[in-house]
Amino acid sequence: MGWPVAHSRSPRLHNFWLDHYQIDGVYVPLPVQPEHLAQALRALPVLGVRGVNLTIPHKEAALRIVDHVAEDARRVGAVNTVVVRADGTLEGRNTDGFGFAENLRRGGCDGGAGAALVLGAGGAARAVMLALREKNCPKIYLSNRTRERAESLARDFGTIEVVDWERKEDVLADVALLVNATSLGMSGQPALDMDLARLAVGATVTDIVYTPLMTPLLDQAARRGARVIDGLGMLLHQARAGFAAWFGTDPDVTEELRAHVLESLA
Ligand code: NAP
Repeated sequence: MGWPVAHSRSPRLHNFWLDHYQIDGVYVPLPVQPEHLAQALRALPVLGVRGVNLTIPHKEAALRIVDHVAEDARRVGAVNTVVVRADGTLEGRNTDGFGFAENLRRGGCDGGAGAALVLGAGGAARAVMLALREKNCPKIYLSNRTRERAESLARDFGTIEVVDWERKEDVLADVALLVNATSLGMSGQPALDMDLARLAVGATVTDIVYTPLMTPLLDQAARRGARVIDGLGMLLHQARAGFAAWFGTDPDVTEELRAHVLESLA
């Protein structure tokens, strides 16, 4: 459910899995106006729907509608996955942190191995923060264009050092992981203006933007010999958690699936 929703890659992704695991179901985009969200969600059990994903602008509003708010959704402050429980009540979860952590892990990076610098303080950055906390990341630096927003996020997650946006390069030598959780670098948006000259040897750079797959930031990092993890994996892995809750199968993220989703992004 989203408004608009036609841009979503999720139908392509979930229908691939439904087909692959021969599950008799379908995943459809549902355009739902913001003022109708509560009615639409309440109708799910009656319609026999197992659950939905939520996208812009419904993620925060759903927190106040669902019957049960999972810890991940409470901490991120947004619901991206709704599960219809057997008793017909609605549970709101947030699977972005799981998706981010799994993408890192599969990319060969242990988010708890060293300090991290996270750029951005929006909804996606909150999910990244949750994942890094769960990995016991020893030190987190946070930088955002609007400093107050970073400070608010830091207060919610505790012991995070806020770095001025203009000074973000200064901590690069200290970090094992750099995460772009802003929308910079996305097609149609300006590139992230950051010089990686001081990036520590052996560091990992990941971008949660996945259109294009190789953002200017990742391109620069790759040229410096850093380990690079693109953002598409986060999308694919966050979807796993919803699919598993709805259909009882933890689906595989394979090269075939990546290629199938990438084809629609081209
Ligand atoms: P959001 O809540 O709107 O936050 C946007 C962030 O980008 C804020 O930190 C904002 O800074 C920063 N920003 C935007 N324009 C900027 C500019 N010109 N200069 C500096 N900073 C700028 O969005 P979100 O939900 O966190 O999503 C962020 C990105 O992550 C989007 O591109 C989204 O598509 C992507 N995403 C990917 C996945 C995935 O599965 N890979 C999942 C979720 C989101 P201010 O606070 O200063 O405005």
